Amino acid sequence: MFENKDNAGTRIENLGEFGLIDHLTKNFEIKQKSTVKGIGDDAAVISCDSKKELIVSTDLLLEGVHFDLSYMPLKHLGYKAVIVNLSDVYAMNAEPTQITVSIAVSNRFPVEALEELYAGITAAAKFYNVDVVGGDTTSSTTGLLISITAIGSVNKGEAIYRSGAKENDLLVVTGDLGAAYMGLQVLEREKEVFKVNPNSQPDLEPYSYLVERQLKPETRKDISSLLKELNVKPTAMIDISDGLSSEIIHICKNSKVGCNLFEDKIPLDPQVISTCEEFNLDSTTIALNGGEDYELLFTIKTEDYPKIKANPHLTVIGHITAEKEGIHLISRAGTKIPLIARGWNALKDNG
Ligand code: ADP
Ligand code: MG
Repeated sequence: MFENKDNAGTRIENLGEFGLIDHLTKNFEIKQKSTVKGIGDDAAVISCDSKKELIVSTDLLLEGVHFDLSYMPLKHLGYKAVIVNLSDVYAMNAEPTQITVSIAVSNRFPVEALEELYAGITAAAKFYNVDVVGGDTTSSTTGLLISITAIGSVNKGEAIYRSGAKENDLLVVTGDLGAAYMGLQVLEREKEVFKVNPNSQPDLEPYSYLVERQLKPETRKDISSLLKELNVKPTAMIDISDGLSSEIIHICKNSKVGCNLFEDKIPLDPQVISTCEEFNLDSTTIALNGGEDYELLFTIKTEDYPKIKANPHLTVIGHITAEKEGIHLISRAGTKIPLIARGWNALKDNG
């Protein structure tokens, strides 16, 4: 067993989550002709025949890091674990087809609890039309761990990568941002109130949208077909799991471009605005860094703007610039602020 008694070596937080992934994976070589895209996008792309490409993506959720069972019902957790993975498949412009589900559980969970978890997984698989085709089950010394792998398929050449954005493209986001994070803030506050007064009955009604976005998120399975109907093919695409800021930076770094994001264009639900005021938080900061929105962020050619401009699901929030111009937020007051990926960083926040 590895023990770092003297606390020697480079600390993980010096690299950050993305720096660590780059550092650990930089020496992998692609040897198979069928590997179209390896590490570095929302999912891997593997060619399988002359017409189709296979999409593979995997995610790991850990109790105490990614979820808190004191307010996350197990059924919702099962549902969310599935959609977190499917979101990465949709972000490649692909259709998910199968998932595998692996769990590690401690003996503190009765069988009935795991049945609840699986009821959520079953509901999500049904709604998103994917088959559960395998997995693994093992014991854990403390909490619950869920790892899901999603498999999908896309017509050859139709996968959309993080790397295709070009200067002058428009930056577009689906839905609205920040609600899942504010839902978490509301639930955390209720948990503290409950600790002091276990008889308190929380009134979550004013926060219903926020709590739903945190506990029962959906992913944008509608966007790929919507864009086909509108005859728009995004040049780059990513899903918003870590926060708008960090995802814009991924698109810009991978596409070797810069970007101007306009603060006044960021779509916010009225509940996000009012709850941010109540919590004394800046709604732009929450939209930029909150994460867990599972919306899609993509770029389109300027000439496609008329096709999307009236659509209620889509908002143009900025445009792509030359790489040397950098990545900026243009504030309501017109100030240019460099964007940084302050998105919640699992490795930093949890030591
Ligand atoms: P996402 O937020 O979309 O799930 P990540 O930031 O987790 O994406 O991962 C970025 C890329 O790095 C993906 O291609 C992913 O498969 C890959 N990756 C992440 N962790 C590892 C790891 N430990 N080993 C190899 N590849 C990894
Ligand atoms: Mg992703």
